[in-house]
Amino acid sequence: MRVCLIGLGTMGLPMALRLEEQGFDVVGWDLMPEARARLARRAPSLEDAAADAEAVITMLPEGAQVSEVLETLLASGLTGGRLVLECSTIDVARTRQLASAVETAGHGFVDAPVSGGSEGARAGSLSFMVGGRRESVERAMPLLNAMGSKITEFGSAGAGQAAKACHNMICGITALGVCEAFALAEAVGLAPEKFFQLCQGAAAQSWILENRCPVPGPAPAAPASNGYAPGFAARLMAKDLRLAQEAAQSSGQETPFGAEAARRFTEFAESGGGQLDFSAIYRTIRKG
Ligand code: NAD
Repeated sequence: MRVCLIGLGTMGLPMALRLEEQGFDVVGWDLMPEARARLARRAPSLEDAAADAEAVITMLPEGAQVSEVLETLLASGLTGGRLVLECSTIDVARTRQLASAVETAGHGFVDAPVSGGSEGARAGSLSFMVGGRRESVERAMPLLNAMGSKITEFGSAGAGQAAKACHNMICGITALGVCEAFALAEAVGLAPEKFFQLCQGAAAQSWILENRCPVPGPAPAAPASNGYAPGFAARLMAKDLRLAQEAAQSSGQETPFGAEAARRFTEFAESGGGQLDFSAIYRTIRKG
């Protein structure tokens, strides 16, 4: 199957490489020439990249870019009942509008935002949160199974994004909790390595703690031990937490911890930390 993957960044590139390994014929597209150069098969334009692809996967930073790309492709007269698999994290309302536009043009649409980071993308062990019509989801299954090990269907288009907003609210709140606890541990004189090892096997264990330990040293592969290179950029964490706040406001559910996490990460991203891994927010929490 020919697959076009648009957005070859931290997540999109390893997803494309994983699909290649699994036998898919992958052509990539990215605004940045250096990102395009990372994939063996290249195209001269977005439209060319999608021209012969049965499935188009989008892995872009925000909703505006996803709309721009899909509107450009629809306007270019994409024919033949393609499948659009939208894997970026964007808002539910925009996802529903895009699903409707794509389906009206005769194609299938599935929203399938992911969890698991670039390491999960490389290993094909992502978790997908899926929304869309049954027949489109069935069509997407070979791709989802090639890239992920956990695929959870939540309902119609937009439901995957709703699940992702709730999921990432846990990640944002957890990240602040982990940072605060490591700051306190250091302040009271505990060795971060020992504290990390304790938490790993104890009740405080979490994916965030294991993979995004905010202190340089204890987890050698974590962004903190590598100059806080993302990973998951703080600007994207701030965006996801704002999406969760939009969901909270539209549903009437109070989420005070989520609101505080959204505020803290937005402030951090806007004061120069946006391109760093989100765990770099530790620098604003640890005093001294
Ligand atoms: P990224 O910024 O590393 O990569 C995005 C890529 O999209 C960049 O290479 C950029 O040049 C390209 N791009 C931007 N606008 C474009 C356009 N109009 N046309 C073509 N290419 C364009 O972002 P990422 O970390 O890979 O995240 C992508 C999405 O996945 C985001 O929505 C993010 O929230 C979500 N996500 C990221 C992670 C993670 O750990 N990084 C985990 C889960 C979900």
